[in-house]
Amino acid sequence: MRKKIVAGNWKMNTTPAEGVELFKGVAAQKGEVCSCVNFIVAPPFTHLSEIVKAARGTGIAVSAQNCAAEAKGAYTGEVSAKMIASLGVEYVILGHSERREYYGETSQTLNKKMAQAYENNLAPIYCVGEKLEDREAGKHFDVVRAQIEEVVYNLTPEQFSKLIVAYEPVWAIGTGKTATADQAQEMHAFIRQVLAEKFGNAADQTVILYGGSAKPGNAPELFSKEDVDGGLIGGAALVADDFIAIGKAFK
Ligand code: PEP
Repeated sequence: MRKKIVAGNWKMNTTPAEGVELFKGVAAQKGEVCSCVNFIVAPPFTHLSEIVKAARGTGIAVSAQNCAAEAKGAYTGEVSAKMIASLGVEYVILGHSERREYYGETSQTLNKKMAQAYENNLAPIYCVGEKLEDREAGKHFDVVRAQIEEVVYNLTPEQFSKLIVAYEPVWAIGTGKTATADQAQEMHAFIRQVLAEKFGNAADQTVILYGGSAKPGNAPELFSKEDVDGGLIGGAALVADDFIAIGKAFK
């Protein structure tokens, strides 16, 4: 049985105080959701310390949204994996399409970030996904395969066992356009097969999340699919009731 995970990517939203309120709203309602669901929240760096404190005893894990590719030194504005982990954060989102698109993150950068994450005991939530033009050109499987081969294939089996993958079709992120449950299942099964080509049966245990305009209304159908193990939620994670309602999609 694979874990079921509902993770919220808050992106660059909320002040630290607003973030704590949002977190409390989620924690207060978590008891209404099946205990089989593992919640993760990924606030901005500035909130991590406070959210880790608020999360104690709630069973909700905390993730960063990014980490530096280097360990330390003269990298103005960067935040290292060690700094993040020292706060008690357990996960880090890497390779989000917004980082790839707006900050030029390549597989080369992401390999370094992955290494930093593992060295500091942060479990990566590695995002993959094709752009609209890739899908329209029928290249979506090739794009996703390359994103996996160029980064995930460099992991050791032990590292791989801690990895979470998020399939986020770029055309569905923040656009209100969701992949159909069948499109999600098709790609998730493909991702699992690509992972199995390198890591064998261990890929059966890999949690693969869907991300892209997931909401309370579409989560039940998406999560009913065999290879969809939960969601990486953007916009709807900023409303505690919606985030919780998405968790309730798992019975
Ligand atoms: C995301 O950016 O990870 C995401 C899935 O965003 P949204 O749910 O807003 O599409």
